[in-house]
Amino acid sequence: MTRAVPKNLRSLDPPAAVREIVARLERAGYETWCVGGAVRDALLGQGHLDWDLATAATPQQVMKLFKRTVPVGIEFGTVGVLDADNTMHEVTTFRRDVKTDGRHAVVEFGVSLDDDLARRDFTINALAYHPQKEEFRDLFEGRLDLERGIIRAVGVAADRMREDRLRALRGIRFASRFGFHIEPDSWRAIKASAPYMGRLSAERVKQEIEKTMEQVAKPSIALEWWRESGALAALIPVLAAAPAERFEALDFLKYDSDGHTLDRLAMLFFGESERTATSTTKALKFSNAHSAWISKLADTRHTLGAAMDAAMWAENPTDADIRRWVATVGRTRAGSFAELTVALWRARLKQEPNSDVESRLGEFVTRATTIAYRDPIELADLAIDGEDLSKAGIPPGPALGKTLQTLLQHVIENPNANTREALLALAMTSQIG
Ligand code: ATP
Ligand code: MG
Repeated sequence: MTRAVPKNLRSLDPPAAVREIVARLERAGYETWCVGGAVRDALLGQGHLDWDLATAATPQQVMKLFKRTVPVGIEFGTVGVLDADNTMHEVTTFRRDVKTDGRHAVVEFGVSLDDDLARRDFTINALAYHPQKEEFRDLFEGRLDLERGIIRAVGVAADRMREDRLRALRGIRFASRFGFHIEPDSWRAIKASAPYMGRLSAERVKQEIEKTMEQVAKPSIALEWWRESGALAALIPVLAAAPAERFEALDFLKYDSDGHTLDRLAMLFFGESERTATSTTKALKFSNAHSAWISKLADTRHTLGAAMDAAMWAENPTDADIRRWVATVGRTRAGSFAELTVALWRARLKQEPNSDVESRLGEFVTRATTIAYRDPIELADLAIDGEDLSKAGIPPGPALGKTLQTLLQHVIENPNANTREALLALAMTSQIG
């Protein structure tokens, strides 16, 4: 039986360094193929930096053959081979999963390429390409699925998901990233996986969320699939009840660098209280710094959101309004806060903003950032400090701290009053009063 050969996929052209590694292994008698994500992405015409290789050589044989290697995961058969530019290429011995309990895999070497491909998660990831023979090994019609735009588990979907529940999340990520459909059996298996996802480690869940934020143009699709499948309720219950507009807002945030990934992560929690955002991000093993960053942004939206929405759409917010908002969120976070807020407003509009609305949204971000760095919004920005107040006769203690806060509130409303004389005078009257 002849199968249709996909026509719309690109031809493959692995980099010279990858070809050289393949050539050396093949000369030594070890069958070696390009596998996995790079083959998939190249066929779709998308660049991919890491060309993984699968080989019949054992890790020891690979290390003997190349001078400069890194033992990245010997127990799983993976050796990193450094090329002339010091770029590392992963070379992994053909392997088969002997035991998978949803957490730890025990692998066996000395198997064929076909065995190695059969253990992979989705048909589009189970493709191999031989750069010398210019030949594909495509046992599961991965190329047809790429062309048809389908995410399909290799073999029996329910079995594959049972072996490793992370595959359910990976499937959703690939489908949303490429704009593919999820084949019905695979989707059923993804849904059936939700109740067991609690066994996944927080690190792996966090990594999937981060990869989704980094790789997917429209994360709202992925997040709604997380919600629909039950994955969100199982893994991050507070987000299962998040308003859809928050996920839609993700699609309006850029995603090409680390800074933007953090903005997208903060958007996930935008509107949650500090307490909820902190406990959830800590449980997901975010660093303290990232957890604090995300939670402060989230909480500011939580407390100021309604007032900001009203001020924005009634008439333009005043400079004093914006000073109050950026004082709450903090100077360094003001830019991100404005971007996130605007993304949420855009998601709410449900239609392309007209040019007037468009310019107001852009202007809001500019004003917030300018004001945050130009105007006095923190105690440290005041023209006087606690020592000045002590010298003026105000005794140190809680009252002094309170006076400084009063001065700051005053200056946030009237930045022109941020002078020594004006503040000292005000401090004396507020003491008396
Ligand atoms: P990405 O662009 O996210 O890196 P990728 O396909 O390269 O996509 P990796 O996690 O780097 O994904 O894995 C490389 C390959 O290993 C995959 O293409 C797939 O064939 C296989 N693989 C990875 N994780 C799993 C898994 N959990 N179950 C089965 N096969 C997997
Ligand atoms: Mg990869």
